[in-house]
Amino acid sequence: MIPFLDLKTINNRHSDEIMEAVNRVAESGWYILGEECRQFESEYARFIGTRHAIGCGNGLDALTLILRAYRELGIINPGDEVIVPANTYIATILAISENGLQPVLVEPDPRTLQIDPDKIEEAITSRCRAIMIVHLYGRCAYTDKIGDICKRHDLLLIEDNAQAHGCLFNRRRTGSLGNAAAHSFYPGKNLGAIGDGGAVTTDDTALAETVRALANYGSDKKYIFHMKGINSRLDEIQAAVLRVKLKYLDADNSHRKKIAGQYISGITNPAITLPSCCAPDANVYHLFPILCEKRGELMSHLSQHGISTLIHYPIPPHRQECYKEWSEHTYPITESIHSHELSLPISPVQSEETTSYIISAINEWKP
Ligand SMILES: *Cc1c(COP(=O)(O)O)cnc(C)c1O
Repeated sequence: MIPFLDLKTINNRHSDEIMEAVNRVAESGWYILGEECRQFESEYARFIGTRHAIGCGNGLDALTLILRAYRELGIINPGDEVIVPANTYIATILAISENGLQPVLVEPDPRTLQIDPDKIEEAITSRCRAIMIVHLYGRCAYTDKIGDICKRHDLLLIEDNAQAHGCLFNRRRTGSLGNAAAHSFYPGKNLGAIGDGGAVTTDDTALAETVRALANYGSDKKYIFHMKGINSRLDEIQAAVLRVKLKYLDADNSHRKKIAGQYISGITNPAITLPSCCAPDANVYHLFPILCEKRGELMSHLSQHGISTLIHYPIPPHRQECYKEWSEHTYPITESIHSHELSLPISPVQSEETTSYIISAINEWKP
């Protein structure tokens, strides 16, 4: 079976360096908030191009901590609205509601699968404080128009960069385009740890200090608590492993782009729609989504040919039981994407031959 994502092979390419990193931490006697975390934060901030990076427990915490910090700073208040794409992964929306804020769902553009910049402005009310964009599937969601809307309406721009480490908008990395950004290092992401991990990046020093304190019980001085914080830290082992993997991220993303290029030029089956093209560096292909009316049939055809695929995601957030208050709402574009999307295998270790085999299996399929 061709795996959807072969994490074992991905990480075993660097097993000597990873084992060295793990041993170094194990033998150091220092496991939380130490030198590895500090070094990773500074290397990651330099990579993204922000003044600060703050490690935390996972991507959801990174998102939640950003909004919580803006509340502590009095910049966002309970009941305020935050605009978010309707087709995002649920974590983005959970971070908003967890903070007592109101998510305002905006439909994506069916061609890019990213939040539709032309639909944002009509969703802005006097309670709106921020736009949370999500670089979904690894593709940059930022546009000049979004930047302009934020300026004109005095809104914060927050990026969910969980799926797009290394992605570029012009020559700037996603994660440095707005006021703050959340990153996840869940093992399957483009920059993945060997456990949970996350980070916040920002140029805003007050925000950075608040996030750092909130993630450590609300304390910036031992046993002194200004805020009712949480415990969400990037542990030393994950930080040490991420330092190894960060060195290979750009090369891994280039490989993903090559595979994507092969899919884009090779897939000719008229029953399949590919997302529109974008600037070459504006996508790091965390996933390779295609759209197909008869998705279920295509999925089983590929499975019979030994090819694993996944759906990202089968049920949109507004159709989930946890958000039953939205069950009467309709977001037709989002719903259509969720019923037609299928993700093909893509990874830094997938060969050209495997990709060609997948393309032939797709092209020979007749709905
Ligand atoms: C993975 C992911 C998250 C959450 O990250 P975790 O580390 O799993 O908490 C948030 N947003 C998006 C878009 C993601 O893909």
